[in-house]
Amino acid sequence: MKWIQLFLQVYFVKCCISSNFNSRTPISYGFTLDNSIDHYTHLMENISSKHESYNSDYYSHTLSESPEIKTTNPGDEYDFIIIGSGPAGCVLANRLSENPNWKILLIEAGDKETFFHDIPVMSAFFQSTASNWGDFTEPEPGVCKGMNNQRCAFPRGKVLGGTSTINYMIYNRGNRRDFDKWAAEGNYGWSYNEVLPYFMKSERSRLGKFQDQKYHNKSGNLNVEYVNYQTPMVHAFVKGSQQLGYQKIDYNGRTQMGTSYVQANTVRGVRHNAASAFLTPIMNRRSNLSIYLNTLVTKVLIDPQSKVAYGVEYNQGGATKYAYVTREVILSAGTFNIQLTTVTYAFGCWASQSLT
Ligand SMILES: Cc1cc2nc3c(=O)[nH]c(=O)nc-3n(C[C@H](O)[C@H](O)[C@H](O)COP(=O)(O)OP(=O)(O)OC[C@H]3O[C@@H](n4cnc5c(N)ncnc54)[C@H](O)[C@@H]3O)c2cc1C
Repeated sequence: MKWIQLFLQVYFVKCCISSNFNSRTPISYGFTLDNSIDHYTHLMENISSKHESYNSDYYSHTLSESPEIKTTNPGDEYDFIIIGSGPAGCVLANRLSENPNWKILLIEAGDKETFFHDIPVMSAFFQSTASNWGDFTEPEPGVCKGMNNQRCAFPRGKVLGGTSTINYMIYNRGNRRDFDKWAAEGNYGWSYNEVLPYFMKSERSRLGKFQDQKYHNKSGNLNVEYVNYQTPMVHAFVKGSQQLGYQKIDYNGRTQMGTSYVQANTVRGVRHNAASAFLTPIMNRRSNLSIYLNTLVTKVLIDPQSKVAYGVEYNQGGATKYAYVTREVILSAGTFNIQLTTVTYAFGCWASQSLT
């Protein structure tokens, strides 16, 4: 039944997008929006028709299959409370709940993902939905000049998986020299050689012959593969770069100087967000992890004497509730909401013992 529903949804998206782009103009090299929609329609059809034959481990990582969200009584006590289910929150929920003696609560302001979030070409669309916080920058002289009231859109995910559920899925670790510079400036533990094992621990790479073996792992949670759908334009671009003398390289490997197709967090072309990678596989296996959705943390509770965080205040269904911790409150609410949770609510300092 679910699969029939999926077919209908995919065709619905196809119809909606097509009707919104009646005057679509072919992009050079024969790529049209139709090509892309057809590609993803076929992809989803393919997945639905083959899903019975996939082994359950692979399949459990593929589609956001509505993980069962557990709730417990308000006011409960946990070892760790994690605020925000973006990549940071999902990884921490996964790693911390490995210890069966620890009780973890993950709180997310947004809702669960849908099938639509799995379709890469839909990414930009989600910026105009409830999956985005919907913020705009303040007007500033000289910036965002082409925008209404000089305010640029400032998208950030408000959904299980955080911004990884609405982003563009590009897997680029960054340049070794940047990490080394940050470490040299006093950020101990952030040199490239120190962070590389963590990149590798998380990664399940499927990069074929261009994979630089020393820099990749095949058995982590987060899938990395070359973008599944490649236009004639991108082939021409890569070929052109090679004609200019650039070698084909793995840009998450030894060097970034060269040419490559884009590496992406997808599984055979389907979005692999942080929730599908790090929560779905453990969801029904670890009873020590609870998740609250549609729940906004409004305060980190900090003991005024010891300055130690001992819990959170949150709003769920219009009611103010509390949850308490014995160990740590972890702020993983995204670049800006971390400040909102701490500064707006007048605590003005990091929750003690947080951000491990
Ligand atoms: C349009 C766009 C495209 C991008 N494309 C790429 C890309 O291709 N590749 C790439 O590597 N990166 C990309 N990024 C960046 C990447 O998505 C982020 O760096 C990453 O998601 C940050 O992870 P995070 O866990 O720190 O925060 P987020 O992913 O922002 O997660 C924070 C979570 O906390 C929740 N939250 C916030 N406040 C509260 C609260 N008070 N109570 C409860 N929950 C709360 C939010 O709803 C959200 O789910 C993109 C970002 C954007 C905006």
